[in-house]
Amino acid sequence: SEDGNDVDVVVVGGGIGGLANALALTGKGLRVRVLEQASQFGEVGAGLQIAPNCTRILDRWGLLDEVKSLGVLPESIVMKDAVDADVLTRLDLHDVERRYGFPYLVIHRSDLHGTLLRACQRAGVDLVNDVTVTAYEQAEGGAVAVHDGGREFGEVVLAADGLHSVARRILSDDQPVSSAYVAYRGAIPVDRVADLDVRLKDVVVYVGPRCHFVQYPLRHGEMFNQVAVFESPKARAGEEDWGTPDELDGAFEATCAQVRAGLPLMWRDRWWRMFDRDPLADWVRGRIALTGDAAHPPLQYLAQGAVMAIEDAWVLAEHVGAQGVTGSAASGTPTGVDWDAALAAYNAVRPEHCRRVLTTARAWGDLWHHDGDERLWRNEVLRDRDVYDYDYVDWLFGPTALTPGELSPMYPSRARRAG
Ligand code: FAD
Repeated sequence: SEDGNDVDVVVVGGGIGGLANALALTGKGLRVRVLEQASQFGEVGAGLQIAPNCTRILDRWGLLDEVKSLGVLPESIVMKDAVDADVLTRLDLHDVERRYGFPYLVIHRSDLHGTLLRACQRAGVDLVNDVTVTAYEQAEGGAVAVHDGGREFGEVVLAADGLHSVARRILSDDQPVSSAYVAYRGAIPVDRVADLDVRLKDVVVYVGPRCHFVQYPLRHGEMFNQVAVFESPKARAGEEDWGTPDELDGAFEATCAQVRAGLPLMWRDRWWRMFDRDPLADWVRGRIALTGDAAHPPLQYLAQGAVMAIEDAWVLAEHVGAQGVTGSAASGTPTGVDWDAALAAYNAVRPEHCRRVLTTARAWGDLWHHDGDERLWRNEVLRDRDVYDYDYVDWLFGPTALTPGELSPMYPSRARRAG
């Protein structure tokens, strides 16, 4: 609508991030409209790992029981060497839940997205399909999302439009960074792995030279999820037809029997190139703000992409809620929210946390993919790790910071513990 003050907030993109923002702000008393380019709200792909920093927020939103009932609570995350299948290290997820107060779980992407979608519908979010936003404008008291069919005004416009975000161009002329790695995925009925040497209660990550392989159960253990990731020689050489199934098979030729047994069960007719972007320190321009992958698409090695998107939504909404919402377009009055202050508070804490995740994910991926002497060294270091040492995950799994002062230190030192 032209001056459409019939909603307070416009969210562009109805993925996990967009829906999380819509739900969180509606929960603070605002009227929110989501504009999604696809003709249906949905998620492709297979499984997602959801760490305690996310299940803590889902619990606050009253969604944790539903998410738990749809997903699986694995017993541990086990890291193995992909060449010889040796166990390198693990996380005891029962202990993780004790330590952080909330579970680590795995869930089908469409089940998490569906949970958010149903919650948005119950909360009265205005969900609109078949709308592609092509431009953004600042406006008096707010901003406008311009789309093929018109213009949508909100006191704020949140861009949750993913890796190829149009809104990001307002803040940066950067491009997605290609890693030359390619992912195959596949979620299959669990009986298809009945004869294989797999663990049905764990997340297992096999790390190998220029490749890795992930397995975990989904949907109360009725399904089994696999992800195979490798460096594509053709992608590395800049060729067009990168990532073909012959490259998949070639990349895993020297891996252990367990990994090779899983490969034929991947979806072999589609594959995904792995992109991220360099960290961006500023996500806000006037009343337009980036959120989710639009702001911080990671490489997936820390399994925190969707998690960060949900944290973004929680942080912004908490700052809005702390101010108090005194009106809504639904009742014909301004919200009373000091958006400049709320967006500044959001922008002061989220880019820094996500910068750490993005850069750490790159380094963590490099470590996974070592070959030769570096692989042997990595294996020694990981085998030496005390399973109950949480130095490397406290900064991720702990409560989401609302202010820079609450950001956990990264990798607090052994010296501190010793001394
Ligand atoms: P998206 O999901 O990209 O949603 C963007 C939405 O905006 C889409 O619906 C799109 O149609 C819409 N849109 C785009 N442009 C427009 C426009 N111009 N107008 C209107 N609508 C538009 N994360 C985890 O937390 N745990 C994991 O275990 C994990 N594993 C992963 C494994 C792989 C192989 C990959 C590739 C990613 C993984 N991630 C994981 C990351 C996670 O999938 C993403 O970070 C997350 O889905 C981002 O959500 P989003 O809503 O920000 O963006």
